Amino acid sequence: MSNDNDDNGKNNSVDISGTVTGSNISINQNQDGNQAISDTEIEYKIDENTYREVSGETYKKSANVFYISLGLLALGVLADFAGILAYLGFNQPVVLLVLAPICWLIAKITEDDRWVNGLSQDNKSYYREGSWYEKLPNGNVAIYDKRAKCVYPRCEGTINIVPAPPRERPNHSLIGKCSLCGVQHTYTVDYNGIGYPQKFDWRPQPQNIR
Ligand SMILES: [Zn+2]
Repeated sequence: MSNDNDDNGKNNSVDISGTVTGSNISINQNQDGNQAISDTEIEYKIDENTYREVSGETYKKSANVFYISLGLLALGVLADFAGILAYLGFNQPVVLLVLAPICWLIAKITEDDRWVNGLSQDNKSYYREGSWYEKLPNGNVAIYDKRAKCVYPRCEGTINIVPAPPRERPNHSLIGKCSLCGVQHTYTVDYNGIGYPQKFDWRPQPQNIR
């Protein structure tokens, strides 16, 4: 919906400022501003207020809990096959029916931690759900947000990095979005942490086309 407004904004029929005297002027200024800043780059930088370090052991423990639960389940299945459970007087289906959901639950709970634990120590940071994770040489994991200042005229917003909308996925995995103006002030995000103002298609993925 707001995308449509953006597109129509160029034919001067939309009152952006909300006042009769100011509307034409503010529309023209906005158009000039858009053209002038289209080549302006922004640099996403680590927001020091969000920076924290967590011991890598924390994530390793969590991953180990999962592998142990997986091992127990595998043992249970093996014991069942070998008839050991029956021999020991256990009710076979009950044992497996209890073990499997527990294992699945632990898999779910430890999913994020296992992802962090699996990161390589390569001086790169990896994005997951709004934050960046980086394995440090000392074994710790640095967690932080990356942000930039919005360069649209008069905008005091902060650019946060969010997943790209579905229709932009082939070309963009992440995009920058203004904290104040949302989808009206959006930017690319490249691997060097640089972004340029760009409009994106926020409509949902087409369902019945083709
Ligand atoms: Zn902005």
